[in-house]
Amino acid sequence: MKGKIICPACKGNGFRYIIEDDKRVAIDCKACDNQGELPNDEKTKFSLRYLSNYISGLWPKENG
Ligand SMILES: [Zn+2]
Repeated sequence: MKGKIICPACKGNGFRYIIEDDKRVAIDCKACDNQGELPNDEKTKFSLRYLSNYISGLWPKENG
């Protein structure tokens, strides 16, 4: 499995939204450096283990 995977932190957008002063503000996605995707390699998979814990608190569960 080579290639790229969609960045789970921003869902491929390259940026994320945060709520600041009751307004929605777009911020750069640090996880993928605004690319919206990550290289599909061991280093990324290792990082995603930590990221998935972090993200699970940010995004509603879609599958069960
Ligand atoms: Zn991202």
